[in-house]
Amino acid sequence: MSQIEIRQPFLDPTLSEQLAQLSAPRRALFLDRDGVINVNHGYVHSPKQTDWVDGIFEFVARAHEKGFLPVVVTNQAGIGRGYYSELDFIKYTRWVHKVFTERNAPLAATFWCPHHPTAGEGRYRVECDCRKPQPGMLRQAMSRWNINAETSVLIGDKQSDIEAAHAAGIYNAALFTSSDDISRLDILSNL
Ligand SMILES: [Mg+2]
Ligand SMILES: [Zn+2]
Repeated sequence: MSQIEIRQPFLDPTLSEQLAQLSAPRRALFLDRDGVINVNHGYVHSPKQTDWVDGIFEFVARAHEKGFLPVVVTNQAGIGRGYYSELDFIKYTRWVHKVFTERNAPLAATFWCPHHPTAGEGRYRVECDCRKPQPGMLRQAMSRWNINAETSVLIGDKQSDIEAAHAAGIYNAALFTSSDDISRLDILSNL
């Protein structure tokens, strides 16, 4: 039976295959989620709320061709605020990963921060080191899969995403406006 475990990060079923194709030290394409993968309607956590950002599947497919490991890093204070549970988030994340694989653009993993320093409930109300602009999620991914900061890229739609990248030593960081087609970003070709 498909029992869902809440374990950080969410690992794509194709992850080990993806890792095997890239020699270490690897490079990653770090993607914020809301506003970069899906249009940010605020606290999106179900398929019916999901509108994909134009060009996102093409962009991730191209990242694979260029030898990047695509890793999602997302602040999910909606969990800490009690808008949806960690289990709801995992189920939704599993669905997102499945769609990307069906579109020939598999994601490698999703890291999330469920905390909020003032609005979080109970154990979620903490000053953590994972909520962007803190670099905790990026650092975890980099040490886990031997990812090199200098050759990696981050795309975010907020200044806090870019600050997190810089704090982790990732200087190829681009601010994206989700009204654009993301596949037109040429940040991958420059590397
Ligand atoms: Mg965002
Ligand atoms: Zn956190």
